[in-house]
This record gives sequence, structure tokens and C-alpha cells, in this order.
Amino acid sequence: MRRTLVRAALTGGILGLVIPPAAAQQKMLQADAEYQDRPKNGLTCAACSLFRNPRSCEIVEGDISPDGWCKFFDLPD
Ligand code: SF4
Repeated sequence: MRRTLVRAALTGGILGLVIPPAAAQQKMLQADAEYQDRPKNGLTCAACSLFRNPRSCEIVEGDISPDGWCKFFDLPD
């Protein structure tokens, strides 16, 4: 009985942390992020912590130019 409870707690705990693949991969539309393919006030995607080489972003979908910008620009720590 006790072993069953421990196993259930472990399984539930682990499963509770699993993010469905579809949700984890869902990104924002470029229009919603107000993405543009040119810098804004000298800030570019290449300098953003969410940019992923060569041309993608953690949170915005599609082709992302290193010279682009969006309203979620995040300066690395
Ligand atoms: S500024 Fe950052 S968050 Fe916005 S599209 Fe570029 S890399 Fe992504």
C-alpha cells in the first residue's frame, strides 16, 4: 500500500511537470509581437537573449533576422 502511494506520488509529480509538446512549441505570430526586419533604437534580435542562431527566436515564429526587432526584446543579463 505504502509503495503504491509513493509510486503514485512520484508518477503524478513527474507527469505534472511534463509540458505537452504542442504547447511547448507554440510561438507567437510576428504581427502580434510587432516584429520588424530592421533594428529599433539600435536594438536588434542578435543582441536579444531570446534569439537563436542563425535565424529563429524562442517565442516568435518564423524566419527572424539578426537585424530585426520586436516588442519583446530582452537584453541578456
Ligand atoms: S527581439 Fe528577441 S524576442 Fe523579439 S523577435 Fe527578436 S529575438 Fe525574438
